[in-house]
Amino acid sequence: MRHLFIVFAFLTLFAASCSTDAMNDNSLAEAAGELPGYRGEVGESAADLLRGDAFGGLTLQLLYTPGLRPSDQTIQNFQAFLLDRLNKPDGITLTIQEIGSPGQEVYSTQDVRDLEDTVRTLFTTEGNLVVCGIFLDGSFEGNTENGSVLGIAYRNTSFVIFGETLREFSGQPLAPSTAVLESTVLNHEFGHLLGLVNGGTPMQDAHQDTEHGRHCTSEDCLMYWTAETGEGLLNRISGGTIPSLDAACIQDLRANGGK
Ligand SMILES: [Zn+2]
Ligand SMILES: [Zn+2]
Repeated sequence: MRHLFIVFAFLTLFAASCSTDAMNDNSLAEAAGELPGYRGEVGESAADLLRGDAFGGLTLQLLYTPGLRPSDQTIQNFQAFLLDRLNKPDGITLTIQEIGSPGQEVYSTQDVRDLEDTVRTLFTTEGNLVVCGIFLDGSFEGNTENGSVLGIAYRNTSFVIFGETLREFSGQPLAPSTAVLESTVLNHEFGHLLGLVNGGTPMQDAHQDTEHGRHCTSEDCLMYWTAETGEGLLNRISGGTIPSLDAACIQDLRANGGK
């Protein structure tokens, strides 16, 4: 594929001192007002992700706990989704790396933030934006009987996929494959980083399902609210089709500098 480079990094993470240095560098740049930091709100970097002028390149640092490496098909689907929507003339680079499990059964959003602070080693530099995604074992503490959360976008350039929970759903009889569920949740969470819906990328026409937060009113759209819970996806996806963005969502992304 054009402008795409995949780096398979099977190495274990560098010593903690390395990530501390990187964070210090990042904090200095942030203080000087030169670069966006990584602790902003979801949607805050939407324009930087969509446009190609300030940041011509994008690097994805994907991290997974043992056994939860995203499938090759998932990575291909994700790449296609990004190439379709983002203006990145200098290319999109993916790095995939295993990390140790924190060993928790349940994680809060703060737990995930703390984990990212420990394991993220790549940060935005001049001309190149970095997004970090963690495929995590255990489950989300906010799960309810009818809503098992499969993913959360929780900072301006960060998301988590609850890979173990996701596999509990894809493993059920007649359920969509792991790759289809993974791709759907991955694209959906990235949609939130892109400021959808009305969350950092202004709406061109009204299509926010305000009852469900930053989601789209179209049931067929990738950004419909049921696309990030296991129960919602099992009820919705038949066969192997990954939902795509509807015209209203694409219109918003284009108006904010995307494709
Ligand atoms: Zn969502
Ligand atoms: Zn939509």
